[in-house]
Formats: sequence, C-alpha cells, structure tokens
Amino acid sequence: MHESSEEELRQLRLRQFLQWMFPVAVGFLGVYAIFAFALRSPALAGGAVAVGLYTAALAWARRLALHGRTARAAWVTGHALLVMVVLGALFVHFLFAALLLMPIAGVALVLPYLERPALGRYMFAALGVDAWVTVVDGLLPPLVEQPPLVLQRWVLVLAVVACVALTLRILWVDSARLLQSLGLAEKAVATRDEFLLVASHELRTPLTPLGLRLQLLRRELSLPPPHSSPERAGLHLDVAQRQVKKLVELVDDLLDVSRISAGRLELHPARMDLTQGVREAVRRFEPEALRAGCALTLEVDEALMGRVDPLRFEQVLDNLLSNALKYGAGKPVHVRLERRDGRARLTVRDEGLGIAPEALERIFDRFERAVSGRHFGGLGLGLYIVRRIVSASGGTISAASVPGQGATFTVELPLSADASLVPLVSGGR
Ligand code: ADP
Repeated sequence: MHESSEEELRQLRLRQFLQWMFPVAVGFLGVYAIFAFALRSPALAGGAVAVGLYTAALAWARRLALHGRTARAAWVTGHALLVMVVLGALFVHFLFAALLLMPIAGVALVLPYLERPALGRYMFAALGVDAWVTVVDGLLPPLVEQPPLVLQRWVLVLAVVACVALTLRILWVDSARLLQSLGLAEKAVATRDEFLLVASHELRTPLTPLGLRLQLLRRELSLPPPHSSPERAGLHLDVAQRQVKKLVELVDDLLDVSRISAGRLELHPARMDLTQGVREAVRRFEPEALRAGCALTLEVDEALMGRVDPLRFEQVLDNLLSNALKYGAGKPVHVRLERRDGRARLTVRDEGLGIAPEALERIFDRFERAVSGRHFGGLGLGLYIVRRIVSASGGTISAASVPGQGATFTVELPLSADASLVPLVSGGR
C-alpha cells in the first residue's frame, strides 16, 4: 500500500474513532448529569461540565476530520481529554475519579487498533493522572461537601457496574464492528490501488499496437508508388482505429463510473424501436465476431417499442456483445429479443467459459471480475455500468451460467405504452 493510502487509512480510522467515541461521551455526560442531580453533588456537576466540554470538543474534532483536517482533529481530541481530566481533578473526589477511570481505560485498551500514537500518549497520561487521583483522593479531605456515605457507596457501586458494562460493550460489540469496518476500509483502499494498477495497464495495452501501426503506415506511405500498397495502408489504419476505439471505450467507462459515483449519470429516454437497436448492434459486431470465430445469430419475433436512452441502450448491447465474444471466443453467440409478460426481454447467450455460481451477482459490482487479469484484459466496470443504466431505465438484468458451457445475460425492459401501434415484422434477421 503506498503512502497516500496509508494516510487515507489513518484519516478513516480517526473518523471512525470519533464517530464511535462521540455517542459514548454523550452517554457519560448523561450519567454524570443524572448522578449530579440525584445526589445534589457539586463535585459531580463539575464532572458533568468537564465531560460536556470533552463531548463538545469531540463534536468539533469530528467536523474537522470530515473536512480532511485530521492532524488538527487528533490534536483537539487529545488535548480535550487532558483538559477534561485536569478540570475533573479540580472537583475531584473518589466517585468522580472512579467514573472517569472506566471510559478512559476502555478507550486506552482499543487504542492499538486506532494507530494514533499521539492520541494514545494522551490517553495513557490521562489514565495515569486519573489513577493517581483515585488513590490520593481517598487520603485527602474532600474539597466540597460530600453526600452521605451510604448513598455514596451505592452510587459508586452502580456507577462502576454501569461503566464496566458499558466498557465491555464497547470492547466486545462496538470494537468488533469498528474492526470490521476498518477491515472493509482497508479492503476498499487495496481494491482501489489494485484498480489503479490494472487501469494503467489496460490503458497502456492498446498504445503499443497503435504506435506500431502508425509507424508501419508511415513507412508504407514513404515508399514510392509501385511499392506502396493502399490495401496494406488501409489494414494498418483499421488496426490503429480499433485500438483508438478501445482506448475511447476504456476512458468512457471510467468517466461513467465517476458520473455514477457523483450521482450524475444522465439518461435521456425517448421512444425507440428496440428491435432496430438490437439489429444494428448485431450488424456492428459482425466483423468482431468474425475475428473471434463466433457465429453471431439474432432472433426477433416482432417490433418492440421501448422507452430508453438510445445511446445508453446501444452501450448496454455493446457491453453484453463484446463480453460474449471475449469470453465465448470460437463458439456461437445467440441474441434474442422477445415480448415476455408485457416487457421486452433481451438475451445474449454464449457457449464460452461461463461464470462460477458465487460470482453471478458479484460481477455486477464495481471492479469485480471472475477471470484472471492475466488471461483476459478488462476493468470490471462494464456490467456495473450496464446494470445502472438498465435499472435507471426501469428494467432488470441478471446472469445465469453453467461453468464451462457458457453464460446467458437477460435484460428486461418496460415497453412503451403505445407499443401496440407498431406493425409486426417477420422474425429472424
Ligand atoms: P470486464 O469484462 O472488463 O472484466 P465486466 O464488468 O464487463 O468487466 O464483466 C465483469 C466480469 O464478469 C468479467 O471479468 C468476467 O469475469 C465476467 N463475465 C462477463 N461476461 C461474461 C461472459 N459472457 N462469460 C463469462 N464471464 C463473463
């Protein structure tokens, strides 16, 4: 993992810590306030003020961390803790010290997972001060008048039980959840790092043949007329154009993913003849099918009118067809469009390597792939974008497969309301 990722992870950890510590501090504020009121204890009221200030500082630090000012947020958190202990010590008596000790001990115990050495030092300093206060407080006369001894003992027992229970809960339940989310965050950062590696490799791949073909083209054009061949030049241009197309598709996919993440994927639905769209896509893919050694067949029963964004519909078809040719090379690919239960159903079926059952849902997620990157290029974004487009068009997409025997992708889209006005056309291509 590189440096910036580690920094991001640290920021995430601090944010998680603050998010988790804030409600705990609010809880303690409540406990102090209730006891201060019940016992009419100025000492506990002082304690409540100290915890209240700490809670406010945590809220402030949380806001700082959210705006990316992590170092400042850590500074505020650590110093607020010291202020709380010092302020608490002014009003100190045994009860307050015992109450304070518990949450600090709880937090100090989970610190190794938070990787905030500075914060850790403050916590342990506070713990030291607090423990010292607890011991010495028993020897000193109280600064303020104390409630009756019996009541004090009961409150102490209750407070300690409550604090121990809360600390255990924090340790066993919340910290498990915290660790789990840290694990997820780590995985997300690792996935992103891996993605950057794959993406740069994928973007680099078409550039080599592109450069080579342009070089060959230049050599071809520099030959005197009887030796130069327009056919050969055309061939070089064809290959170069295909590589440029690949690059454009990759960059478009990346742009689409950022649009989806920012919630800005715009669709411009229009009434369109889905049959026509599918026919055109299949026609467009004929040269690629020929190169992949796939017989491409199309079956349509009737003209179906849908309401989709024509360009995005084309993108869905292109993705499914190019996947079928890529993962089913050398075997037939079947495309079918039919009316089913009042909807348009498109199926793209290949007889290629298929998909393992555990991966059938996962492949629709971002960056998810079910094949080794060494054997097949790709960013794992196509199906993610396709599913977003299809669901934004009011449809669904699913995959079915028998591993080793091929995969079938099924898209269902709503039909346009006045579809019945469209004349029927004969099936087949
Ligand atoms: P990419 O093809 O760039 O990896 P996609 O999002 O289009 O990304 O597909 C995600 C994964 O789904 C692929 O990596 C592949 O493992 C699997 N997949 C998609 N289509 C097929 C198919 N027709 N046959 C077998 N596996 C497929």
